[in-house]
Amino acid sequence: MSTIPLPPPYRIKVVEPIPFLTPVQRREAIEAAGYNPFNLRSDQITVDLLSDSGTGATSSAQEAAAAQGDESYAGARSWFRFRDEAADLTGYPHLLPVHQGRAGERILFSSLLQPGQICVSNTHFDTTHANVEIVGAEPRDLPCAEALDLDSQEPFKGNIDLVALAETLAGPDGARVGLVLMTITNNGLGAQPVSMANLEAVQALCRRYRVPFFLDAARFAENAWLVQQREAGYQDWTPRQIATRAFQLADGCLISLKKDGLTGIGGLIGLRDDALFARCEANLIATEGFSTYGGLSGRDLERLAVGLREVVDPLYLAGRAAQTARFAQMIKDGGVDVVEPAGVHALYLNAGRLLPHLTPAEFPGHSLGCQMYLDGGIRSAELGSLYLGTLDESHRLTSPAPFELVRLAIPRRVYTEEHFAYVAAVLAGIAKDPERIRGYRIVSAPALLRHFKVRLAPLG
Ligand SMILES: *Cc1c(COP(=O)(O)O)cnc(C)c1O
Repeated sequence: MSTIPLPPPYRIKVVEPIPFLTPVQRREAIEAAGYNPFNLRSDQITVDLLSDSGTGATSSAQEAAAAQGDESYAGARSWFRFRDEAADLTGYPHLLPVHQGRAGERILFSSLLQPGQICVSNTHFDTTHANVEIVGAEPRDLPCAEALDLDSQEPFKGNIDLVALAETLAGPDGARVGLVLMTITNNGLGAQPVSMANLEAVQALCRRYRVPFFLDAARFAENAWLVQQREAGYQDWTPRQIATRAFQLADGCLISLKKDGLTGIGGLIGLRDDALFARCEANLIATEGFSTYGGLSGRDLERLAVGLREVVDPLYLAGRAAQTARFAQMIKDGGVDVVEPAGVHALYLNAGRLLPHLTPAEFPGHSLGCQMYLDGGIRSAELGSLYLGTLDESHRLTSPAPFELVRLAIPRRVYTEEHFAYVAAVLAGIAKDPERIRGYRIVSAPALLRHFKVRLAPLG
């Protein structure tokens, strides 16, 4: 075991300037945005940790491949290159390209779920949740109990609660379960990984009750890396072998390739069932594009084919995980707690604990996110009562979220250790005097996917 930390396995060839605004400019910008970070312009942001989706840097090999992109309407060379890589990785006989993950959700759910059915998950991602509801089905989350202790070091807090899943399948609602969807890693709940043992048990239950079992596999490589690091019996497997094994356990998958595809755009549906494939393909052609491009350009398909190889490189995954771990340590050293253990694609700040003087109805996670912008031009995402709580007609909080968190998503291959030190220093400054931070109230909010379009104002 070497004690010398390895640097990232790449050097930087192309750079993009980032803006530095004055405190007054930042105050004006966030006010004009209705205190919603989704309304900020990227040229108002110094370090953007809103999302790791489509925000990664591509490699020189990906850009070289993109130059070979074949833009033929049907049967493009680039499709076959991508398809062969995806088939080799996932093992699914049927693959459909889509422009991003949620297009795959819409196509799969409208082809598979009936109104009144239930989709069970460890935790539905927000658009996944919305797309289940749009087809008239009910999304139901059954996270494991360990997930609810933010400080515990349990290695697989992304697991589904197997007892609750078995009870649901065997109970009065069992006949209505139309799909079990496992999100790897569990983005909605602290970026925690799912163990192979948990996936195997889900497979066995789904077989027994004849329910389709799918993976929502946006971070299949990062989950595989954490399995290799944490689960007994997998130390000698490569991340790629572990990912392939996970896909093998399921009947199909949805993947947003904007994450572990290492590209700006892309998605994939993987299927075994011939009849389901035929229904999905018809929907795809009608709404996304022909089945050899699905809304993607040949150039994107080329970048994806290379990205699917690069993302399972153990050196890449080790470097990324180490970067996140060092970032977590810097934040904790500054006096702010994060959800433990630190995952790979994001850190989740415990805003509820940092700002105990704010009630959930004053949205402490949102307050912390706004303060990070005001103090340092840092953009983040609230994952607390603003995102998950229940509101009444006049936008008052009636039931809070279980936790008040702020997600710092980490774009792939984009920021250096100095950027993370900067963010940690801004947070340490906030932690020195948290009492000065005020709460917020909602001014207007849409019914569905509230956090994207909500507008707020600071309290008193
Ligand atoms: C990002 C994401 C999606 C949706 O994918 P898009 O490409 O953003 O449409 C679905 N599920 C999970 C777990 C995700 O992280």
